[in-house]
Amino acid sequence: MRFMAGFDPIFQTALDRMAARHTRRVLRPVRPVGAATVLRDGRRLINFSANDYLGLSHHPALRARAAQWLSEDGTGAGASRLVTGTTARHMAVEARLAAFKGAQAALLLASGWQANASVLAAILRLAAEQGAPPLVFADRLNHASLHQGCMAAGMRQIRFHHNDLNHLEHLLAHHADRPGMRVIVTESVFSMDGDQTDMARLSAIGRAYGAFTYVDEAHATGVLGPQGRGLCAGHDIDLVMGTFSKALGGFGAFVTGTQAMCDWLLNACSGFVFTTAPPPAVLGAMDAALELLPTLDAERGQLARNAARIRGVIRNSGLSPEPSTTQIIPIMLGEAARALAFATALEARGILATAIRPPTVPPGGSRIRLALSAAHTDDMIDQLATAIPAALREIEGT
Ligand code: PMP
Repeated sequence: MRFMAGFDPIFQTALDRMAARHTRRVLRPVRPVGAATVLRDGRRLINFSANDYLGLSHHPALRARAAQWLSEDGTGAGASRLVTGTTARHMAVEARLAAFKGAQAALLLASGWQANASVLAAILRLAAEQGAPPLVFADRLNHASLHQGCMAAGMRQIRFHHNDLNHLEHLLAHHADRPGMRVIVTESVFSMDGDQTDMARLSAIGRAYGAFTYVDEAHATGVLGPQGRGLCAGHDIDLVMGTFSKALGGFGAFVTGTQAMCDWLLNACSGFVFTTAPPPAVLGAMDAALELLPTLDAERGQLARNAARIRGVIRNSGLSPEPSTTQIIPIMLGEAARALAFATALEARGILATAIRPPTVPPGGSRIRLALSAAHTDDMIDQLATAIPAALREIEGT
């Protein structure tokens, strides 16, 4: 293997530019120790940055089923779903998922990113075939994968102010005379702000304007809604997307909707058709998580109480108000350097809470994104509650 360094000056210049703006990122490995702590550089830290909201990544039932299906069916599915990659277990997990979400059908996808990037693109291309380009109404803070889906289909987005359904309605009315299918794309819990969409109102707006509604439930699935079924449960939403990579403690993603929609997607969505089927161990963890979720009301209640307490601590510290109403709680710090200093100050107090900077969040929106988990003990929450004001005093030099 020869190293080809001829283009490195291009990469290096781009890296230097990021470094100058405090936005260059590097990988810092951790070693998980249970669901809520990690070892980093030999130090034990409480992990407040993972999306393992229910601590299921280390749950014995998930590990056991993953291990069993791995030992029975091997490490890889060997082929894509439409070739020989579909086993009875894939079909059973999809049926379990559809039942859990109260939908006619479900499809598994390799990851949440891939689901949004490819499913949304496929839907928008089909919409464009209906005679006129679709009008895509998208929340300004939608996840990068949703933008990717729009870009892959070559669609311009009509952005509504973040989580502002009045603005969405205003834009729908404003564009009422234009031809084309209406598609509304949003999240039920926003990944960086931790606020949530009023789903009853969104579905009513969708119906009123005859719009196709696409909702990403990555951060609500397992946590919110009756028995953790998500915020779309009981509402008319055309396509619900979710992941297994967060509260469900594993990996992979799904969409649910009508049978006809899923039957069409399995023919037309390149991110489903041209990728290898989920492997047995991953599938086993999905199956066990879906079985467990309805039994975890106590964990969800504890998570909500801890989140309310931490929001109170942030409010009382004199920090900028945060928009969260969920287990995702941003500490708004403004400039990237300030967020980095806050993360360092928390780490010195045994807390792992990563600074989130542009381009993940808008310029001036750098923050610490806390993600609480039912796996956090009362002592861990106490430690965080003490560390937040102390870290603030440290970075402000008071
Ligand atoms: N949608 C949202 C709202 C997300 O926050 C994420 C993950 N950060 C994804 C999709 C992508 O999911 P995955 O990590 O499974 O690719």
